[in-house]
Amino acid sequence: MQPVVIVGTGHAGYAAAREFRKHDTTTPLVMVTADDGTSYTKPMLSNAMARGKTPAELAQASAEEMGQQLDARMITHARVASIDAPNRRLHLSDGSELEAAKIVLGIGANQIDPHLPGEGADDVLAVNDLDSYAQAREALEQGHRVVLIGGGLIGCEFANDWVNAGYEVTIIEALDYPMGRALPPQAGTALRSALTGAGVNVVTGRKVTAVERDGDTLVVVDDAGERHPADVAVRALGLRPRTRLAEDAGIEVGNGIRTDRQLETSASGIYALGDCAEVDGLVLPFVMPISNAARALGPTLAGTDTEVHYPVMPVIVKTPCCPIQFYAPPTGVAGEWHEEEADGGGIRGLFHDHEGQARGFVLTGPAVAQKAELVKQVPGWFDNRY
Ligand SMILES: Cc1cc2nc3c(=O)[nH]c(=O)nc-3n(C[C@H](O)[C@H](O)[C@H](O)COP(=O)(O)OP(=O)(O)OC[C@H]3O[C@@H](n4cnc5c(N)ncnc54)[C@H](O)[C@@H]3O)c2cc1C
Repeated sequence: MQPVVIVGTGHAGYAAAREFRKHDTTTPLVMVTADDGTSYTKPMLSNAMARGKTPAELAQASAEEMGQQLDARMITHARVASIDAPNRRLHLSDGSELEAAKIVLGIGANQIDPHLPGEGADDVLAVNDLDSYAQAREALEQGHRVVLIGGGLIGCEFANDWVNAGYEVTIIEALDYPMGRALPPQAGTALRSALTGAGVNVVTGRKVTAVERDGDTLVVVDDAGERHPADVAVRALGLRPRTRLAEDAGIEVGNGIRTDRQLETSASGIYALGDCAEVDGLVLPFVMPISNAARALGPTLAGTDTEVHYPVMPVIVKTPCCPIQFYAPPTGVAGEWHEEEADGGGIRGLFHDHEGQARGFVLTGPAVAQKAELVKQVPGWFDNRY
């Protein structure tokens, strides 16, 4: 019997495998991954110091243990180089081949690399998995000055975790306040004040233009000419779904690998989920949408076609200095944010479209307790676009 082959052992790959095994215990399952297949919870990378966890302690199970749990053959340190989509054949970088009844792509996303000039640019780290996090932690053992290039969600979370652990942290962000793409002004300003209060040097409205080197010190230069010395520099400028493998196989891609609501790509029998996927027009690189996608994919892979259902799942920002929950309004929908000081403290913001329908919200500080009330006011993700 030909196997189901899952490519990737992040949350997407392992969640899909677990859900598949709930519905089918007999079809062979093969998992292929470019890394070592360690199972871990990626969101814990950005609050590991607060939890007193080393990278090794974040590892939950080895590939071998996962293979036993899932009754799967594990192929680790192996990159899928190309896919013959009509024949569902995978070519691995070591020259071997695999034939599959069904293929699942859970291959994640790349960190955006601005290819900065300067002698120190190659030493700027980017954290998007356990290995790169371990590298960052090793670097953090050698020095205390950290510059984060990019003040989005991930940059802010690392800044809060590391400043609390005693590091001297600077964030350099091009927009006027941290998380400027996701948050309206009052909420973003509250986050900036809280990060500053926690000891982070928050530099906004500036772009990094180069990373130079002065002996052992990296020097991050911004477009106002200010030079920020660093022992460790980390870029956190957002993610770009890995689409090349699918595109080269003739599979439709947009902002991610395009799928329908059954997670099937334009190639029959080939599915995608997680950070690499654009599911019926939506790229949702967060754990809960991935878990929901996996719950639908399990029965689909086992023969019962099932559509993914996304309830309203606000994003929780792990900045203890200023807890935030937000549900982003759809891009391209005209409307306005109305933000106010919430009773009891914090900011409560609602985004209304021109028909007066609430389409997004943000809550900061003590106001996060109002989440359940606001969740009822906004449409679910699939219905929130038109
Ligand atoms: C620091 C940090 C904090 C976060 N915090 C939160 C949070 O609080 N809440 C939340 O909801 N989300 C959070 N996220 C996002 C969330 O963790 C991701 O959406 C999710 O983990 C992505 O899982 P994935 O399996 O799609 O991708 P990945 O975990 O990146 O896995 C991709 C897998 O594909 C493999 N692979 C790639 N290409 C190939 C190839 N060609 N051949 C074989 N294998 C390949 C890789 O080796 C890897 O195993 C956070 C992300 C980061 C980086």
